[in-house]
Amino acid sequence: MITEFASFDVVDLPGVFTVRRLGRGLAADLGLEHQDQVRVATALSEITRSTISVGLTAVVGFASDNANLILTIAVPGQPPDDGVSGAARLMDQVSVDEASASGIVVTMTKRRPSGLRPDVAAIRAHLAAVLPQSGLDELRRNNQDLISALEDLTRQKEQLLLLNSELTETNRGVVALYKELSDELDQTNQGVVALYAELDQKSEQLREVSQSKDRFWANVSHELRTPLNSIFGLTRLLEDPAEGDLGTEQRRQVQLIRSSTKTLLTLVNDLLDVAKAESGRLAIEPANVRLPELLSRLRALTRPLAEGKPVEVIVSDAGAPATILTDEAALTAILRNLLSNAIKYTDSGEVRLSVLTTVSTVDITVADTGVGIPAGQLERVFEEFYQVPGARRGGTGLGLPYARRVAGLLGAGLTLTSEPGAGTTVTLSLPAGLPSIGTVLIADDEAGFRQLAGRMLAGIADHIIEAQDGAEALAVIAEYDVDLLLTDLLMPGVDGDTLLHRLPGHLPAIVITGLDVPPPPRAAALLRKDEITRERLMFSIRQATRKLR
Ligand code: ADP
Repeated sequence: MITEFASFDVVDLPGVFTVRRLGRGLAADLGLEHQDQVRVATALSEITRSTISVGLTAVVGFASDNANLILTIAVPGQPPDDGVSGAARLMDQVSVDEASASGIVVTMTKRRPSGLRPDVAAIRAHLAAVLPQSGLDELRRNNQDLISALEDLTRQKEQLLLLNSELTETNRGVVALYKELSDELDQTNQGVVALYAELDQKSEQLREVSQSKDRFWANVSHELRTPLNSIFGLTRLLEDPAEGDLGTEQRRQVQLIRSSTKTLLTLVNDLLDVAKAESGRLAIEPANVRLPELLSRLRALTRPLAEGKPVEVIVSDAGAPATILTDEAALTAILRNLLSNAIKYTDSGEVRLSVLTTVSTVDITVADTGVGIPAGQLERVFEEFYQVPGARRGGTGLGLPYARRVAGLLGAGLTLTSEPGAGTTVTLSLPAGLPSIGTVLIADDEAGFRQLAGRMLAGIADHIIEAQDGAEALAVIAEYDVDLLLTDLLMPGVDGDTLLHRLPGHLPAIVITGLDVPPPPRAAALLRKDEITRERLMFSIRQATRKLR
């Protein structure tokens, strides 16, 4: 809604001064700040001055709506453009309506502060009181405006100077900070270099420790086993009647020595087995193992363990695949362990080994009707030397941890469920069948070997791509979806090591080389060219693709 406060006819120069004062008064009453008051006054005087300078008159209306101060200047003719354009620079909006035939109406607005409710009556009274005054008064007022504008300017200049000095200060600060940062970076870099040197040194030490550990195990197994075996043999000789009679007491003592030696030998053997499996020195020899035959050997081996006990030992090969790609000795060791535990901890009932073949696994289960294991100890029995308290029946507490480690080397899982008083069930879950893989890339500069590897992959790889060197292999990897890389180490140009470094993280790689070197860290396995068999390759592929899946 527009509220009109006053209207004034400008016919001469004093009139110009009057509208100037009226404009300024209205601007002040509507809460505009000092500089805007001066702008409104100056805009009015600009237009009206130029109007009367060409002999025209003007009717100036003073009004406002909710948002703006509104001034209208009706001129019966065409005032000079410079007056309007001068005013346009000082007001928020200036529009010129030329519709009327008798002249034009210029409307100018200036935004007023929101939230102020002007007292209309008071403003009207105030404007009415503004009487035309002498030109001198107005000149004085103009001068005052000028002085205060100058003062404003000086203040702004001072502020600018202050800002400038602050900026200089800040710049100095930034330069100092930059220097501090670059010093720190320098130091950090030095630290990183030192750290790397230390790491290199540590890995060298580790390598040495690992070598001496190997030597230690080799010696220990020899040093410990040899005398124990001798004592064992000697006790047998002592007991031999051909060697002369022993007194009853002597015979009892010799038997004690023999049984202690046997216990000690078992402990030493178990310890060495675990250590071997742990250090990865247990050589896995993958082959297509005939499972029913392995099971029947196991049956013969373990049945005697239950002699004299009302325990039936059943080793069933029903449901077993004819062959399984695994390591025969390792599988036998695990199952023998599970069966002997089951027999050891079962006083009556049965111990049953059964096989279930699924799409992806061959599950071999050993279930007994023995003492069982309390719920809280089901995982603890896989800890080295742990034995369920109160249930000791000889043994070393190393059988299950060993079995689980070796299972890991075969890519199998070992799980145990049990109910105290009812029995225990242990399941070894082996991977079934052969691996199956999409696209295999073979990188080798030897065409003959690429062909051989290609033939070995028949039936398990969907596609085979060959590359003559690392550079070609990288180009293939960039263009195609490769699922597995088989690579040589010695190749012209980009060699195997470099190729491995540049591989995308998800791509499993197996090194096949004539060199006698340890597997590079990025490779899932290393196969020697002169020892490669289809079974070894299949086994490595299964481990490699499983690890990264
Ligand atoms: P141990 O040489 O003592 O048998 P293991 O590592 O083979 O060592 O087993 C650890 C412990 O787990 C055993 O001491 C025993 O308390 C418990 N255990 C293992 N197998 C069975 C089973 N079939 N029934 C009941 N307890 C078992």
